[in-house]
Amino acid sequence: MTINNNEKIVILGAGFGALTAIKTLRKQNFSGTITVVAPQSVFAYLPSTIWIPSGLRNRKDLEVPLDNFFNRFDIIFHQGTVTGLNQESRQVVTDQGNIPYDRLLIASGARFIQKLPGIKEHAIIPCNGIAAGEQIRDQLAAMEEGTIAMGFAGNPNEPAAMRGGPVFEFLYGIDTLLRKQGRRNKFKLIFFSPAEEPGKRLGPKAVKGLLREMEKRGIETHLGHKMKGFTKNSVITEGGEFESDLTLFMPGLTGPAWLAESNLPLSKGGFVIADQGGRVEGTERIYVAGDSGSFPGPGWMPKQAHMADLQAEAAVNNMLSDIAGNPQQHQFKVELICIVDSITSGVLVYRSEKRAIIFKSRLFHWAKLLFERIYLSQIR
Ligand SMILES: Cc1cc2nc3c(=O)[nH]c(=O)nc-3n(C[C@H](O)[C@H](O)[C@H](O)COP(=O)(O)OP(=O)(O)OC[C@H]3O[C@@H](n4cnc5c(N)ncnc54)[C@H](O)[C@@H]3O)c2cc1C
Repeated sequence: MTINNNEKIVILGAGFGALTAIKTLRKQNFSGTITVVAPQSVFAYLPSTIWIPSGLRNRKDLEVPLDNFFNRFDIIFHQGTVTGLNQESRQVVTDQGNIPYDRLLIASGARFIQKLPGIKEHAIIPCNGIAAGEQIRDQLAAMEEGTIAMGFAGNPNEPAAMRGGPVFEFLYGIDTLLRKQGRRNKFKLIFFSPAEEPGKRLGPKAVKGLLREMEKRGIETHLGHKMKGFTKNSVITEGGEFESDLTLFMPGLTGPAWLAESNLPLSKGGFVIADQGGRVEGTERIYVAGDSGSFPGPGWMPKQAHMADLQAEAAVNNMLSDIAGNPQQHQFKVELICIVDSITSGVLVYRSEKRAIIFKSRLFHWAKLLFERIYLSQIR
């Protein structure tokens, strides 16, 4: 059955959540207008930026122009940055003009809290896209010896809003790389976090495994002390200051800046409040998926590409139900699934309401590469 009553759906963002929403809408035979708003019609495959420092991946491998994808799915692309929302007139406000919508999906990701003194000048935020991976690669190559400190923290107002997994990957990946280059003995690696049990969301077994792995690799830890800031050559916490010549730090996440001009309901952590069907609280035609949203669920619910996909599917299925005049009954499943990669091996971590699995094997490194290849071939 074709679903079209000349509805105009507007999607904000061109990341994981947005692309899954597009695929789902067209798969369900929605034939109305879909407009995508993003600063660039390029998709960045963020999970593989962990391989940029080792040279396993470069920018060209991970950036996919979306022209083909948009043609295939009959998308109108509006190049621009969203700056606000006018709910009364149902218009998205962008730096390139306003766009009217009948239904709106917010999938414009999250941003990092950069309030700690010295964070902008003296730390690299490793998850800040492809450019961050390149910066780490170049600085590592230029160093002959020294101390590399890597850590992460959460959003104090919304503990679930953090991205820790990739920091472990950068940590183990850089350790493996330095060993391969035969110069690990010239570097001291330190892992730091204000949490006593970093990575707790992955499950208690995972925390033990991650810390055991650090011990095995000779990585020092500095845990359980609130962050105070960064200088050119050090990391400062309430538990003391330690030297660092290269600092990688993932601060907590918060919602996109434009939400301040949207009148949408925001959580304490700065994300759009929605239900388990992706419907934004107190609105009728607005939905959210992925890192931009604050959803009900267990404390370990991750902000991950996989969750963004599940949330986008539920949200647009509800949109379509509503367009067809049916009740909106779709709910996303909560599932944590990731492979913590170390270039030569990988640890699979799976968590759902029913089970928690953790398993290490060389095969998981190859599985992560294979997943990337399959995903990107669908986008190209
Ligand atoms: C190094 C790294 C490793 C990761 N590893 C994994 C992993 O192994 N598994 C996993 O599941 N997840 C992983 N993630 C997390 C995953 O990438 C994110 O959770 C996912 O990208 C979130 O999808 P999203 O659609 O919500 O937002 P994004 O994918 O971030 O997309 C946001 C989109 O919105 C656009 N945008 C932003 N602001 C505006 C604006 N104002 N106006 C218009 N458009 C805007 C952006 O340009 C982008 O196109 C990793 C992330 C990083 C950085």
